[in-house]
Amino acid sequence: MTAGPANVPPAETAAWFLAQEPAFHEKWMAMALAEARAAAEEGEVPMGCVVVRRTPDGAARPVGRAHNSVEALKDPTAHAEMLAITQAAAATGDWRLTDCALYVTKEPCPMCGGAVVLGRLALAAWAASDPKRGAHTVFGMFSHPGLNHRPAVLPGCGPAAALEELRGFFRARRRRDAAGREARPGSAGTEDEAFGFGKA
Ligand SMILES: [Zn+2]
Repeated sequence: MTAGPANVPPAETAAWFLAQEPAFHEKWMAMALAEARAAAEEGEVPMGCVVVRRTPDGAARPVGRAHNSVEALKDPTAHAEMLAITQAAAATGDWRLTDCALYVTKEPCPMCGGAVVLGRLALAAWAASDPKRGAHTVFGMFSHPGLNHRPAVLPGCGPAAALEELRGFFRARRRRDAAGREARPGSAGTEDEAFGFGKA
């Protein structure tokens, strides 16, 4: 096995990612957004994620790319970030993703935030923050002194148009779920209502 950037401390990788031009981040967020779009089309919670690895030659390439698949897999842990992180670990042959950054359309939930910490990803970038249950915004997981890894963060990453598109996905989902609740009396509010986007 060759000595790659996996041996580089995550803080150095984070600095490298954060030094890139806005277009660099927008490119990866556009890829994550395409995944969110696919999730919306499949009736999943519209979340998309890409894990990007800094390569030894100073470039970057995606090593994980996924969208929420909770309904399709009948698995409550099948969030976009969990699937993309698992793919990235398989692709790199190492569970330590210290040379990787995670781009996700909405701020990770605490489960996915935990996976970012455990995988030691250097950077977590997201487009929309989640003021109701975001791993960082609400729980401070990415700067918690009790955890052994603290990724750099890049909130509000990506173009404003992406945020608008994401809001549209969640609005459409709320409408659909509201209709579904009428058909299923007694079911509680949807997950999406906790996502912090403005009401339609
Ligand atoms: Zn999650």
